[in-house]
Amino acid sequence: MKSILALIALTLLLTLTASAQEAKKLRVLVTVGGHAFEQKPFYEMLDKLPGVTYKKIDLPKDAGLLKPGLEKDYDVILMYDMVKAITPEQQQAFVELLKTGIGVVSWHHNLAAHPEWDEFRKIIGGKYANNDMTIDGKPQKKSNYTEGIDYKIHIADADHPITKGLADFQVHDEVYGSRWISPDAKVLLTTDCPKSDAPLAWTTTYGKSKVFYFLPGHGQQAWTNPVFQELLVRGLRWTTEK
Ligand SMILES: [Zn+2]
Repeated sequence: MKSILALIALTLLLTLTASAQEAKKLRVLVTVGGHAFEQKPFYEMLDKLPGVTYKKIDLPKDAGLLKPGLEKDYDVILMYDMVKAITPEQQQAFVELLKTGIGVVSWHHNLAAHPEWDEFRKIIGGKYANNDMTIDGKPQKKSNYTEGIDYKIHIADADHPITKGLADFQVHDEVYGSRWISPDAKVLLTTDCPKSDAPLAWTTTYGKSKVFYFLPGHGQQAWTNPVFQELLVRGLRWTTEK
């Protein structure tokens, strides 16, 4: 009898411990759409990210979900979409959502999302320009990309929680050149790669939201890199810390 009670107590303890860990997991809403990527290794990588549980939505189809109230179900939005446009009402609802303080991670080609919505560059602190244009009264050249190259990622700010303790590392991935980057962005990662502008990751804020932009991540050679994954998880977590 005693041993049965002990077993029940142990089972209960393990269940409680497991649910406590589950409760602490970051609840991530992943947005995709508007740009192709290798689906299988992408979701395999997300499935294995420690301390993360996620659901993905497709833009623009599911853009109506990006509105106040979403912050009750998700801690952070991981934007891997390159959506061309959402409606003006959806844009406004998204801006209102960011007044709740939900975390925002803008990732890779998300820099080129919402090309006609000027506010979006202010949300993520950067923009991939599809044409020569003027931004804040200054000429901005058309951006460019180079896929499939080896380059070194340098930790530019070693004191930030996202980068602390990490060493410079190599990836085989894509870079962008001639991008617009907000003067308010705090740059965490850089590269000397001549095909790229120096900044590869930065933080900013918008509304009450903490925002992390992370450029690397075109394909699985980046996705499977353990330092890359560490940066992604830390970036997600950092945006949710008050
Ligand atoms: Zn890409």
